[in-house]
Amino acid sequence: MVLIRHQLFFPTELISLKRIAGLDRITFDENEGLRIGALVTHAQVEHSPIVQQHCPALAQCVHHVGNLRVRNMGTLVGDLCQADNHSDPAPLLGVLGARVRTRSLRGERLLSMAEFHVDIYETGVKEDEIVTEIVIPPPAPQACTAYLRFSGNSPIDWPILGVAGSLVAEDGQCKALKICVGSLTAVPLGFDSEAEELKGKKLTPGMIKKFARACAARIEPIDDTRGSEWYKKKVAEVYIRRTVETLAK
Ligand SMILES: Cc1cc2nc3c(=O)[nH]c(=O)nc-3n(C[C@H](O)[C@H](O)[C@H](O)COP(=O)(O)OP(=O)(O)OC[C@H]3O[C@@H](n4cnc5c(N)ncnc54)[C@H](O)[C@@H]3O)c2cc1C
Repeated sequence: MVLIRHQLFFPTELISLKRIAGLDRITFDENEGLRIGALVTHAQVEHSPIVQQHCPALAQCVHHVGNLRVRNMGTLVGDLCQADNHSDPAPLLGVLGARVRTRSLRGERLLSMAEFHVDIYETGVKEDEIVTEIVIPPPAPQACTAYLRFSGNSPIDWPILGVAGSLVAEDGQCKALKICVGSLTAVPLGFDSEAEELKGKKLTPGMIKKFARACAARIEPIDDTRGSEWYKKKVAEVYIRRTVETLAK
């Protein structure tokens, strides 16, 4: 609907998925993890006891999507399928290792987030497929996950950037770190090689600062009305640092 209102898309037919049974479910099991159906709204994700128990960072993340009306009407899957590069959940689903299940007459496919995100407004979903659900694997034991966003105009505006992170640490030592930044580039950007450098090291304030600087240096942000390339790089450095500090607390 947003794309139609922006006059970016002129469909001749609209097909509602609302009456397809089973697409409105949120379930969790130890093997596959959390499964969120295509009809589940942001508000239902936010208030679901299952999501709050097994993936609290996602419940907190979708709380920041637009406003109450958007969260009551818009679905998490619709947010992803629209593939706006300012999506809040997209970078978080990246660090959570989520996959997108599609279905067509030819059968089912499970796409990683890297396969799903192709470009702004473009996904790996084929023309004869619909997305049926998002699957989030059970988190690694002791993993902490967080999502921090910054929106310049008002807190309910789309983000200038969103930083998602997941950390497994033992006695302050980094065992595994994942960071993914959304909004700045066409698709969310991960920093696995920079994070690999921190593996086995103590997360001191100096280390975290150096890491954030190295990540920000690699980003080539889109210059737009939300800020210049220079400004966005500076904000990214600050928010990557704050995300790792939050995780390491
Ligand atoms: C005022 C406003 C503010 C917003 N602010 C934010 C924000 O701060 N952060 C944020 O992340 N998002 C924001 N959004 C986006 C919002 O989250 C999405 O518009 C909403 O979630 C889309 O869900 P929907 O179910 O209405 O999808 P639709 O609008 O119905 O669909 C969106 C696109 O996805 C496709 N699609 C939907 N479901 C499927 C499916 N199951 N299989 C295949 N294709 C599918 C549709 O064909 C369409 O192209 C905002 C939107 C508005 C209007």
